[in-house]
Amino acid sequence: MKSTVYFIDMRATFRENFQAKLGRLLETAGISNVVNKRDLVAIKLHFGELGNTAFIRPVHIRKIVERIKNLEAIPFLTDANTLYSGTRSDAPNHLTTALCNGFSYSVVDAPLVIADGLRGRSETAVDINLTRFKTAHIANEIVNADVLVSVAHFKGHELAGFGGTIKNLGMGCASRKGKLAQHSTLSPKVVRKKCKGCGDCVPRCSQKALSVIDKKARIDPEKCIGCGECILFCPNGAIQIQWNQSIPVFLENMVEYTRGVLKNKQGKTLFVNFITNVSPACDCFPLNDAPIVRDIGVVASTDPVAIDQASVDLVNQESVLPGCCLKTNTGPGEDKFKSLYPKVDWPHQLIYAEKIQLGTRNYDLIKI
Ligand code: SF4
Ligand code: SF4
Repeated sequence: MKSTVYFIDMRATFRENFQAKLGRLLETAGISNVVNKRDLVAIKLHFGELGNTAFIRPVHIRKIVERIKNLEAIPFLTDANTLYSGTRSDAPNHLTTALCNGFSYSVVDAPLVIADGLRGRSETAVDINLTRFKTAHIANEIVNADVLVSVAHFKGHELAGFGGTIKNLGMGCASRKGKLAQHSTLSPKVVRKKCKGCGDCVPRCSQKALSVIDKKARIDPEKCIGCGECILFCPNGAIQIQWNQSIPVFLENMVEYTRGVLKNKQGKTLFVNFITNVSPACDCFPLNDAPIVRDIGVVASTDPVAIDQASVDLVNQESVLPGCCLKTNTGPGEDKFKSLYPKVDWPHQLIYAEKIQLGTRNYDLIKI
């Protein structure tokens, strides 16, 4: 069985500008079937790290908000805090970053809610009973929302090959604990050279897993539950994630988490990928290198696998832009993501998603 992916390109006319086209895309992809009157609608996006400019323009998000409000529902923009320390690792900093990047109420016409609370602890354990995880730790307000509209910026990604809908959901909607579980099976590590033995981290650990012995912090792996909080607290960056997951395992973890995110949302989701500003790496970096291909357009679907497969295919059909970082696989039909990250087997993400019946890689692309 094939899924349908709807597509608009970037062309605009006096009769229909890009914003109007975006509204038509949402309607054609079935937003009115997904959203009911008075539904609380989570629009899950990435506000961009400070210094990054490749994230989706807030004025486009406003159009999505408008469509949802037209259906008499209540939209809010949301994301969960990051695992690593940066400008989005707690709710106040995350909201400040979002505002600095242009996601103010006056622009987007909707409130911002950080889905996993002040410090990334507000989570729901969702039973998924899959191979890698029996339970997924998902940000509370994603679980609590009646509807989930995922709006992802499609681009390259250093660990996943590409980042689209599945990345926006599986990693983006996980609480800090959920994110750490996807990245590592180990407790964080203390880098002894960086540790000053100040002890500031010790009272921050809810599990009493941290102590200072011989002027260096120590983590007791028996007590540590992998919440990841200590990573943020050390002023010297001495507590770090142990990135021990192989890429295929990481991809499977992320896909299984996506199942957790979607578990209570049957018939209540819509996925949108903006294939614009296709930067080589994630919007989590405080920079973005030049886009690798031209702005292609926007796709929408109710199938999270089909939409990512279609987005990869649309990018790979292009020639690369002159002056970008790619030096191989530059022509139409060549694999741009393999060239960006040769060690990442990006199809594995989609093959595994299909295996656990998250969706299908078979799709019809309908240009509207
Ligand atoms: S890990 Fe960081 S916060 Fe903890 S004792 Fe060492 S320097 Fe201080
Ligand atoms: S990850 Fe959480 S439980 Fe483990 S040492 Fe750090 S703060 Fe404590």
